[in-house]
Amino acid sequence: MGQPLPTAWLNDHFLPLAEARISPLDRGFLFGDGVYEVIPVYDGRPFRLEAHLDRLDYSLDEIRIRNPLSRPDWRRVLGELVERNGGGDQSLYLQVTRGADEGRDHGFPDPSVPATRFAMTSPLKPMPNRIREQGASVLLLPDERWARCDIKAITLLANVLARQTAREMGADEAVLERDGQLMEGSSTTLYALFGETVVTAPRDHRILPGITREVVLDLVRAAGLDIREAHLPCGELAAADECWLSSSSRELIPVTRVHLADGASHAVGPVDDSGRSRPGPVWARLAGELHELARNAQA
Ligand code: PLP
Repeated sequence: MGQPLPTAWLNDHFLPLAEARISPLDRGFLFGDGVYEVIPVYDGRPFRLEAHLDRLDYSLDEIRIRNPLSRPDWRRVLGELVERNGGGDQSLYLQVTRGADEGRDHGFPDPSVPATRFAMTSPLKPMPNRIREQGASVLLLPDERWARCDIKAITLLANVLARQTAREMGADEAVLERDGQLMEGSSTTLYALFGETVVTAPRDHRILPGITREVVLDLVRAAGLDIREAHLPCGELAAADECWLSSSSRELIPVTRVHLADGASHAVGPVDDSGRSRPGPVWARLAGELHELARNAQA
């Protein structure tokens, strides 16, 4: 017997993911005209669900789509989707687009059409041992995204190309730089630790306000460390005591190697007796705390 087919939710119906269909005139398909969320689920419980739904409200408001579901309806639908997919640990994806018009016109449909509502789940993958033990590597690339990175838009072409370039250079993630200053990863928040201070980019239009970022910064404060919300000049990353990335589905990732676009690379963070870079002690503490918090949080 194979695995049961994952169940998705599309426009108010639960159905096997393999049977879910949308119109080719959907504006998400034609223009990337929509927004999304990714929510981690531990033991059947979505972590920081309200914060994700708040960010969904923000993204929808900014692109002028009326939220098609009330907050209780989102909670009910997502809860049922998790349950139908067997509970446990999952990554919950939801997407709302401006819907399918009768033709292809950049302007909003007039009269408006129903928004397309979609959600699915996939397995939440644990951090690979290689990254846990040796740390991840990043490639610094120019940030070629649009000027509203604070909106969680499905229009992700620049992120896709950056991640692929990183992969082709043997790096795990692309870290994006504007005017010589570090912003964030292609799908992660970036942090650098200098002594007792954690530096991360300020919340503005140039980064996505990560839900995990808020959780990590709370843990940083609780650990008695300082926070400096500032743009780190690219050249200063090499001097960091530790470097990390975070996202909802990948928690807190240690970074130990930085590749530059010209092919050069350097280590970042502590080095062991044999001269190899290793994830640092502050990462180990915060990553452990974040994991425990997420796993034990009440719904
Ligand atoms: N920055 C970008 C560009 C992202 O795409 C993501 C997540 O997808 C993040 C940061 C991390 O956000 P969160 O912690 O809400 O997953």
